[in-house]
Amino acid sequence: MHIQHLNCGSINPPGGVALIGTGGPFTHAPGVTHCLLAETDDGLLLVDTGFGLLDCLTPKFFVWLMITVAGWPRDPEETAVRQVERLGYEPKDVHHIALTHFHYDHAGGLPDFPHAKVHIYQAEYEAVTQPQDMYERYPYRREHWAHGPDWVVHPLAGDRWFDFDCTPLVDLGPVAFCFVPLTGHTRGHSAVALRLADGWLLHCGDAYTFHGEVDVQNPTPPPYQRTVRRLVNINRAMRPIGKHSPRLRALLRAHGDEVQLTCSHDPHEFDKFRTGLQSRHPSTGSG
Ligand SMILES: [Zn+2]
Repeated sequence: MHIQHLNCGSINPPGGVALIGTGGPFTHAPGVTHCLLAETDDGLLLVDTGFGLLDCLTPKFFVWLMITVAGWPRDPEETAVRQVERLGYEPKDVHHIALTHFHYDHAGGLPDFPHAKVHIYQAEYEAVTQPQDMYERYPYRREHWAHGPDWVVHPLAGDRWFDFDCTPLVDLGPVAFCFVPLTGHTRGHSAVALRLADGWLLHCGDAYTFHGEVDVQNPTPPPYQRTVRRLVNINRAMRPIGKHSPRLRALLRAHGDEVQLTCSHDPHEFDKFRTGLQSRHPSTGSG
């Protein structure tokens, strides 16, 4: 196993068409919470955790409300920790976790891996620990870092990843990673670029949510996006509709032979990677 694609939270939000691109404006649309698990020379690396056991078993009110709206069934078997165990590892084998951002649906599994180093882009760490207002504070859940993670905060230091700024590369042997800030969804939202045996995989988190947005031939935003997102995006100051998509398409046009993209919630992308249709990397599915 070099890399596994894990769905750590099946969702089915109303008006999900604006997020995931399928269905109508008043219907639910099924989505995933796409996390990555990679074997390295220093234990396992997890990119985003999805929801965790705490969110399944004893969610705090805000998280309960959000996952009820999002339609997550609170199935413990979908958590990263249960999937890691099913793959034959122990939770303490996960030595590194890299987060695209700290929203509850991406960081909820942190308490299940209390021994892991938690890598995060500096601006996101500052947003989590010093939120500017309630819109920023609410989706970051204190219960997800109450165990006192071993933070590794990554600042920019002048490095470049293709045509993007990035943090210094962390080399873990067969896999290396860096953060590629794609801010907007949160103050420090960042893609995680993974260097694998035969190319780069850029996990874009929530920088986009529908594969059509980064389709080089026929770019397509999700239908009703402007209307529905305007209603549901709680942080109005940070409403980057399609903000990063043109740069991501330019990246694919110039370097599509060595870079692949995925985002967090698109089930179509997840299925392609999981079944190996999209991936050039040695990969098997799970989740
Ligand atoms: Zn998300």
